[in-house]
This record gives sequence, structure tokens and C-alpha cells, in this order.
Amino acid sequence: MKNPTIELENKYCAYNYHPLPVVLVKGEGAHVWDDQGRKYVDMMSAYSAVSHGHAHPRLVRTLVEQAATLNIVSRAFHTDRLAPFLKTACELSGMDSALPMNTGAEAVETAMKAARKWAYTVKGVADNQAEILACEGNFHGRTIAIVGMSSEPQYRAGFGPFPPGMKLISYADADALEAAITPNTAALIVEPIQGEGGIIIPPDGYLARCAEICRENDVLLICDEVQTGLGRTGKLFAYQHEGIQPDGLILGKALGGGILPVSMFLARDEVMNVFRPGDHGSTFGGNPLAASIGLEALNILVEEDLVAQSAGKGKWFLERLLQIDSPLIKEVRGRGLFIGVEIDPDKATAREVCKRLMERGLLSKETHETVVRLAPPLTIKRKLLGWAAEQIEEVLDEMEALRKAS
Ligand SMILES: *Cc1c(COP(=O)(O)O)cnc(C)c1O
Repeated sequence: MKNPTIELENKYCAYNYHPLPVVLVKGEGAHVWDDQGRKYVDMMSAYSAVSHGHAHPRLVRTLVEQAATLNIVSRAFHTDRLAPFLKTACELSGMDSALPMNTGAEAVETAMKAARKWAYTVKGVADNQAEILACEGNFHGRTIAIVGMSSEPQYRAGFGPFPPGMKLISYADADALEAAITPNTAALIVEPIQGEGGIIIPPDGYLARCAEICRENDVLLICDEVQTGLGRTGKLFAYQHEGIQPDGLILGKALGGGILPVSMFLARDEVMNVFRPGDHGSTFGGNPLAASIGLEALNILVEEDLVAQSAGKGKWFLERLLQIDSPLIKEVRGRGLFIGVEIDPDKATAREVCKRLMERGLLSKETHETVVRLAPPLTIKRKLLGWAAEQIEEVLDEMEALRKAS
């Protein structure tokens, strides 16, 4: 039963992940294949990085053409690819300018640096006193500064000390924000829906109220939409559900079209203009290959109307999942194709559900031990969503029968 590929990976790869025991070798659209030739529906899509589906033909063509033309030159020079990409991103988000990076965590760090420098140079906070507020249950990435504002003990344990100037407030609680703000507060950094936190959807009006409190107190509202952005929740950006415009926006994951790491921090000029040459940078950020892929990913999103697809199919899928009557389910919640099935931890683990789903050809991954995350490519066919709901229903029935028998 031992898979030699898994054995080899276990020997040579750091043990910082605990993957399900499957070896993937190929992907196309909403499907992936393993080394035994088995086909799976990918309902995980790399934590939403594969919103366009695997190997989207337009993205593959762009990748190949640009790879044969110009790839990496660093920002020491201009290229013809960067501006069209950033212009499109700014126009779609209503932001003035953007700073390109590679991973989500880097774009979050960029936002934190922008917020601090804005606090000192625009707001007038005294040197080294700026504070950034983040929410309990957040996930913003894995750098030391970012895990320094995490409330997850495992993300922090063994990695301190952490930089000062970060404060945690409870999520989905605008009064907590109001109470935490001081004259030194630079920014609130918040996920409109917490993804890694377990697909946690705050009550309607929460983000709008945060925006109002931030405006009244001269505090920047920065939305981390690395996971929720670009159509995932049925709007282009999840903050649009609340009819607000943040001061800063962080994008990543799906921005790379499921092909490359591409991220950026976008903001109003007042915020972005704090950066001067030499303040901040990245060797690979904004490279022509990444910019070409990023632009094509945005164009596909618009031209294939993936946002409306996410909204329509997501609503249908959520309703279908809500019909599942199982004592193992604590709650089913979601927005667009961003859905969490919360399992009652007294009765079963989400990992066991994911394992059984995998055996039936449906790939998903638990988040926070209790939540089965369902975030397929936005291009997925409705028929496959129906099939997925059946598999979930049957797995839960099967597990409940076993539980009763034991
Ligand atoms: C995944 C994620 C990040 C970090 O992105 P990486 O590319 O893994 O560094 C940041 N914020 C949110 C909300 C995320 O989901």
C-alpha cells in the first residue's frame, strides 16, 4: 500500500504539511488525476488559487508565448507588460495604483509597511508608535510579522519574539474595533470573510460599519482579499457585498491564474505615495511573465463572467448542501463558491470526511479541523457540483451509520 513517491517526499521534504495520501500528476479544468490514473474533482483548487481551473488554455498560451519572449529582468528596468496589468487591476478595483509582489504574505507585508509609513508621514503618529489592528481568527500568511498578529497558537509557537505594534480585536464585532482605536492606530487589516479561519461570514453590515469607524478615526481600512477576491464569493471583491471601498486591498492566489505566484497591494494615492525608490521591493515582483499571466487572469475573469458564475452556481450548490440532513453537520455556510461544511467535532472529524471524499474522487481539505472547505474552480460545471453534493451526502450517511454501529 506504500506509495514510493509519498515515501520519497516524506524523506526529503520538510514536514510542514500533512497532505492527503494522493499523488497528483495532471490537471485540467476542475479535474486532477493521480499517479494511478484516477480522476478527481478538485474542490480545493489550491486554497482558491485555481479559480480559473487547471491549465486554462488562454493562460497556458500566454505563459508559453511570454516565456519565449521575456521573463525576468527585475524592476531595475521598465517592461512593456507591467503597466497594462496594474492598470486593469486598478480599474477593476477602483484603486489609484498598485505594488506588485509574488506571494500573498509579501503583499500583506507590503500593506503593513504602507500603513505604518502612512501613519508617520501623513497621519502624524510619533516615530515607532504606529499600531496595526487585526482580527482574531485571521489568516494573513506565515512571515514572522504576520504570525505575530495571528491568534492561532500553533502558527506562533516557537517562532517568537514578534515585532510590536500589532493588536488583535475580535472579528465580526465593530464595537471592538471602535474601542481598540487609539491616536496611534494606522490601519485595520481584515478579511471580509475569514477563509482559513473556517469560512467565517460576519453579520451583514459589519464591514460597512468598520469602514465608517475607520473613516471617522483616520484609520486605514485594508481588506485582505487574497482568498476572497476575484470572484470567489460571487462578487469581484467580497467588500462589494457591503457597498464599501477600502483604502487598501491585498490580492494574490487567483491573481496568478493557477499558474504562477502573483500578488499585489493596491491603494489610494495618499497611501501608496509614501513609497520612494529603495523603500521596498522584490526581485521577482511584477516580472513580465507574472504580469502577463496576471493580466490574462483578470481578462478571463471579466470575459468569461466568472464572477456571475460563482454567484449563480454558488447559490445553487449552497442550497443543495443545506438540504443534506445529517447529524454530523453543525452548519453549512458560504457565499459564492466559497462554502464551508462545519462538522460536529463530538461526532466526526473534517479530515475523515475529506479522506472518504477523496476515496470517491472528490478532493477537499479541512480547515481548522472541523470545517470541510468547498472552493472549486469558478469554471466548474453545475453537473459536477450536483455530483459533489451527492458524494458529501453519502459519505456523511456512511459515517453516521458507522458511528451508530460502534
Ligand atoms: C493564503 C492567504 C494569504 C497568504 O498567501 P501566500 O501566497 O500563501 O503567502 C494571505 N491572506 C489570506 C486571506 C490568505 O488566504
